Amino acid sequence: METFGHVIDGEEVQSADGHVFTSIDPYTREPWAQIALGTAVEADLAVRAARKAFDEGPWPRMSAGERRRLIHRFADLIEEHGDELAMADTRDMGKPITQSRGNDVPRTAQNFRFFADHAALTPGEVLPMDSGHHTYTRYDAAGVVVAIAPWNFPMMLESWKVAPALAWGNTVVLKPAEDSPVSATIMARLALEAGIPPGVFNVVHGYGPDSVGSALTEHPLVDRITFTGESNTGKVIARAAAANLVPVSLELGGKGANVVFADADLDNAIAWSIKAIFTNGGQVCLAGSRIYVERPLVDEFVERFTAAAKAMVVGDPKDPKTQIGPMSSGVHYTKVRGYFDSIHESKGKQLTGELGEGWFVTPTVIVEPDRDSAHQREEIFGPIVTITPFDTEEEVVHEVNDSPYGLNAMVFTEDLTRAHRVSARLVVGTVWVNCFFIRDLRAPFGGAKMSGVGREGGSFSREFFTEPKAVVMQM
Ligand code: NAD
Repeated sequence: METFGHVIDGEEVQSADGHVFTSIDPYTREPWAQIALGTAVEADLAVRAARKAFDEGPWPRMSAGERRRLIHRFADLIEEHGDELAMADTRDMGKPITQSRGNDVPRTAQNFRFFADHAALTPGEVLPMDSGHHTYTRYDAAGVVVAIAPWNFPMMLESWKVAPALAWGNTVVLKPAEDSPVSATIMARLALEAGIPPGVFNVVHGYGPDSVGSALTEHPLVDRITFTGESNTGKVIARAAAANLVPVSLELGGKGANVVFADADLDNAIAWSIKAIFTNGGQVCLAGSRIYVERPLVDEFVERFTAAAKAMVVGDPKDPKTQIGPMSSGVHYTKVRGYFDSIHESKGKQLTGELGEGWFVTPTVIVEPDRDSAHQREEIFGPIVTITPFDTEEEVVHEVNDSPYGLNAMVFTEDLTRAHRVSARLVVGTVWVNCFFIRDLRAPFGGAKMSGVGREGGSFSREFFTEPKAVVMQM
């Protein structure tokens, strides 16, 4: 079995107490990699290494152009090692290899390139004042950043945090999810190979509560905490951050609503709706897990959508033909299975979907569940979707907003005025009109309500990962 350590201060190391854990391949349900299991000891070592690299090392004092050069070299190495990184995420959490190789690796490299360029090229502001003074802004690195990541897009979501933090001159301690640890160690090795100095990008492995995760979020030498994961974990992390008055960015759960008006281009709406819920087996914060269809279109939509769902290829995630792999872990399978087994409680009609061997759940469609049912309101994080008819725009806007979550929504219509009007009224961080998943890295990304606090992306990441400063000049 391959072994993977923490990466602290430029060295790949095991835990002081020698403890390890294994990563289980959810397709074979066998361990495939052995990983160092950290404790508060390793969390402390990593934070101190990052602190030293920030206070004494070259990284924050380098020109943004020099950091950009090194981060681009790092991105090149990520692309060169794309097969290895993609297979690591696929074996760790069951993501189809076509998605990890075809989407996550290029997006990871792109995140590093984009934020390196953004930090090097973004101007500050100069504010000539009526009094004759001039004020200008500086965006200096904040310090030591702790990044805590989930398992559903391991390397990609890690890079979404690590890239802007590094590009703006911070040093980082990353804790990947315990279900998907391997790609983080590979990335940290590649960062060193690219010439990023020791201590600048550290990785520690372990669990969340009473382990590495909580030790990092409670550490007094940390300046920023950026977290992606469940809403309830976000609350715990926000409390830990508050104790030290550390700014925290929280990207949390979702219950993406997908609104299809009767004038929509149906082929387009179905194609995106299928991708929106079944990509990565529905284990996507943005998953379009509750679809609302205007009544005149509902029968045709349901028939065609269900046929497309049934046609999806479920199987070994390492096989390029596979579109849906197993659920990411035994624990997560048990959670999703709980929703599957209780579909009758939703009062909706199940049109397709079954439990496969092992940790498989095939695409599952429920029509007209109770609006208060768990299936309609809670984040299932699996390939289970509800379809509900609606009659008016007013009604559907109310339904979409009547949710504890506010991460994203989709609107399918050929009526431009309605597209703008509805987009403005939805209380979410992102609205996609006639599409889904398309991202401009300059745009704000985050959620309203239980879906998060703060935004990342472009200048939003700059605000979070720097200490913006005003310098007021009298001349
Ligand atoms: P999770 O909250 O269980 O775990 C996420 C990370 O937090 C893991 O690394 C875990 O070890 C760590 N953690 C857990 N408890 C902790 C604690 N007390 N202190 C410090 N760290 C702790 O989430 P998950 O199951 O890995 O991921 C799925 C969730 O992530 C879903 O809710 C999904 O919607 C959300 N998510 C959100 C986005 C977004 O951008 N908004 C993106 C992807 C996933």
